[in-house]
Amino acid sequence: MSDLQELRKQALIGAGIDTLAVRAGQVRSAEGEHSEALYLTSSFVFDSAEQAAARFSGEQQGNVYSRYTNPTVRTFEERMAAMEGAESAVATASGMAAILSVCMGLLKSGDHIVCSRSVFGTTTVLFTKYLARFGVSTTFVDPIDFVAWEQAFTSSTRLVFVETPSNPLCDVIDLQRLADLTHKHDALFVVDNCFCTPALQQPIKFGADLIVHSATKYIDGQGRCLGGLVAGPQHLINEVLGFIRSAGPTLSAFNAWVFLKGLETLRLRMDAHSASAQALAEWLYEQPQVEKVYYAGLPSHPGHALAAQQQRGFGGVLSFCVKGGREQAWRVINETRIMSLTANLGDAKTTIVHPATTTHGRLDDEQKLTAGITENLIRVAVGLEDIADLKADLARGLSAIA
Ligand SMILES: *Cc1c(COP(=O)(O)O)cnc(C)c1O
Repeated sequence: MSDLQELRKQALIGAGIDTLAVRAGQVRSAEGEHSEALYLTSSFVFDSAEQAAARFSGEQQGNVYSRYTNPTVRTFEERMAAMEGAESAVATASGMAAILSVCMGLLKSGDHIVCSRSVFGTTTVLFTKYLARFGVSTTFVDPIDFVAWEQAFTSSTRLVFVETPSNPLCDVIDLQRLADLTHKHDALFVVDNCFCTPALQQPIKFGADLIVHSATKYIDGQGRCLGGLVAGPQHLINEVLGFIRSAGPTLSAFNAWVFLKGLETLRLRMDAHSASAQALAEWLYEQPQVEKVYYAGLPSHPGHALAAQQQRGFGGVLSFCVKGGREQAWRVINETRIMSLTANLGDAKTTIVHPATTTHGRLDDEQKLTAGITENLIRVAVGLEDIADLKADLARGLSAIA
C-alpha cells in the first residue's frame, strides 16, 4: 500500500458510519479508478517462483486464488467490519453460508446451541436437521423470556444465536442483557443483524461476539445478488475463515462489487424504509379491519422503549392481523396491485406475504401458536415507493373484507 493510501486509511479511524459506508476498505489500483474496481479473476499470478512459494507459505501477504482472497471481496469485508465496529470480517456466498460457516468454524460434536425460536426458518432447519446429524444440539427459546434463556444453558452450550427485531412479529431482544448472560456461561453471542443492518444497530456495542448477515437483503437493497458476511474479532474470524477457505462458500467478486454500491446508500435507504414502515404501521393501527399491528416503532409495542435505546431506527418490516382468518388475510393480499407477493425482503420494492402458509409453513399448529404465527397475520417489508400509493394498495385489500 502506498503512503498516501495508508494516510487515507488512517483518516477513516473514528469516522462516522456514512463516511465508512462510502469510503472504508477502498484501495485504488495503479489505474486510479474512482469507483471500486471489480477483480473478476479466479487466480493471481506471481513475479517469480520465490514469490509464489512465499505467498503459498503465508510468509508474504498477497492474493493467490479467489477462494482465499479477492481484492473486491476484501474491500467489502473491510467496509462491513468498519461499519459494524468489528475488528475483522469475512464474506460468504449467502446469509446461510455465513451461519453455517460460524457453526463449522467454531463448534464440534457434543456442543450445544441456544437459539431464539424467532429466527429465519432456514436457520432452524440448518440447526435441527443438519447440525444435529453431527452431534450439535439446539434448544429454542422465546426470545423475550429471560427465565427461558437462563434455563436453556447447559455445560455444553457454546453458542447463543438471535435476530432482533424478530421476523415477523418484531420482538425486540435486550442485547446487552443476553450478552452478559451468554458470557457468564462462557459461550459466544451471535447476532443475525440482517433486519437492522449496521445503519440501524451495531450489536457489538452491546456485547455481541459475532455478527452474521444476509447481504442479499438490505445491503444489496435492490434484490439482485446473494451474499453473506461474518464480522467479529480476528481470532474468531480466523476460525470461520479457515472453514470457508477449505469448504468454498466464498462470495463472488461480482456480488461483492454490487454490495459495495449498495452500502453507499444503505443508511439513506434504511431511514426511508423505517419512515415509511412507521407511517404504514400508524395508518394500519387506525383501520377497522385490522386487529393488531406488530411494529416496534409503535409506542404500544412492548419492545418500543428497548428498540429506541439499542436501534437508530425501527426498520422496514411490519406485520398485522386482519379481523378473520386465513380467508380474509389471503383476500387482502390478493387485492394488492403494487406490492410484490413474495417472501423476500430488504428490497426497494415492497413485499407482502402470508407467513403461516409460506415462510413459517413448516411449523406445526402448536409451534405456530407459540410463535404467534396466526392465520390472519400478514407481513409487509416496506420498500421505497410513495407511501400514499402503499396505503392505497393496502386500503384496496382491506376494503375487500370490510
Ligand atoms: C434471508 C435471511 C437469511 C439467509 O440469507 P440468504 O442470503 O438467503 O442465504 C438469514 N437470516 C435472515 C434474518 C434472513 O432474512
